Amino acid sequence: LRAETAGPGDAVELAKGHLVQPWPFAGSVGAEARALIGEGDGIYITDGTGKKLIDGPAGMWCVNIGHRREELAKVMYNQAMALSYNTPWYTMNAPSAELAMRIAGHAPGDLSHVFFTTGGSSAVETALRFMQFYNNVRGRPEKKLIMSRGGAYHGSTYLSASLNGRPRTRDWMDGADDLVVKLSSPDPFRRPAGMSISAFADLLVDEFRDTLARVGADRIGAFVGEPVQASGGVIVPPDGYLTRIREICRDNDILYVSDEVVTAFGRLGHVFASGDVFGIDPDMITFAKGVTSGYFPLGGVIISERLLEELRRSNHPDAMFGHGLTYTSHPVGCAVALRNLDILEDSVLAHAREVAPYFQAQLKTLEEVPLVGEVRGLGLMGCVECVADRESKDPLQLDKDVGKRIDAHCHELGLLVRPLINMCVMSPPLIIIREQIDDMVAILREGI
Ligand code: PLP
Repeated sequence: LRAETAGPGDAVELAKGHLVQPWPFAGSVGAEARALIGEGDGIYITDGTGKKLIDGPAGMWCVNIGHRREELAKVMYNQAMALSYNTPWYTMNAPSAELAMRIAGHAPGDLSHVFFTTGGSSAVETALRFMQFYNNVRGRPEKKLIMSRGGAYHGSTYLSASLNGRPRTRDWMDGADDLVVKLSSPDPFRRPAGMSISAFADLLVDEFRDTLARVGADRIGAFVGEPVQASGGVIVPPDGYLTRIREICRDNDILYVSDEVVTAFGRLGHVFASGDVFGIDPDMITFAKGVTSGYFPLGGVIISERLLEELRRSNHPDAMFGHGLTYTSHPVGCAVALRNLDILEDSVLAHAREVAPYFQAQLKTLEEVPLVGEVRGLGLMGCVECVADRESKDPLQLDKDVGKRIDAHCHELGLLVRPLINMCVMSPPLIIIREQIDDMVAILREGI
């Protein structure tokens, strides 16, 4: 079929015939029909049948300023007409330089420089390769292991995926296991029975210290962690835990990489959550998604001035960080991101902060539903977890993933849900207003 003869009604058949979609099961790989989405507007999307849905996950935690912003489309058009691409190998463009300056201005501590990538996985991959380069150049080649945690999601490229701690993201594929040291998820819901949250934080910190002692801090190059574990089910860590881990990393010359692919650009009410929400100043921050509100694939790593200065003063000024992507510093992506940042700064960040407590409170009412074990969240990230039994907290398991069944029912009722096995994650566009939150929660209640 040529494009002009394949109308929207054919898309599902075309996909089944020709498209390999992400995260497929072997039994249906390359033969799968998913819900066709035709249009987006504000917090809503419209499916292939014309049904209007609230975009509960904001695409994939990314459409922060909402769909169909004409000004972003115009910026894309104008930038493409001015300069659609330039090689970042030996030329540069103005939007990327301005964006780097704006981003560094929001970043905590001495994070001063940005390396742009195509998304989150490539941002994490870049941060890790930079750590390897940094330690090689300063004569610490043995200091390369990476610490990550259960419940983590850091990407789908080889090294970033090796850090993942969620079931299913790794089970059927190999990874760089010899480079990774795993820690527990800082999940207060699944802390040992009877333990206070502050004692749980102590336990996590002890585990971190014990792991350093066992493995050897001089072999560990980086700790990578999401401030709030997103795909792990919106795991908000115990108070003070992140700052304590940050201090231990500093004391042991371990780079702290804060993976803000989800939490940055407004999801927690600020451009970056590391400093403004959690009070930490990482050595590197990775970001993607909300940097363009999903209008263009872009990500990046913000790097501390201290690390760059060490490299400049090292004994190997000729050592090359042999790392770069064709689309590093893409002019269209960076131009879109600049306008997106204007919109966030002008109104959306403040709105997100204002509406977040209402969002959390309304979502929390779903704990009245007997199947629900816990509702948790922060900012405009929330998770409704279904359990078989509130005492044991065993995940609810039915013939099909519970989350998928809830999603299917909510779809009928006008809401797209992000199903995660026995959980439903909600992270709507940040422009959502109270009445729309009411609609969203009412549908989710009925869906469950
Ligand atoms: N890091 C985190 C915390 C994420 O949630 C994701 C994606 O969801 C990634 C990294 C990978 O980003 P991408 O899918 O853009 O490669």
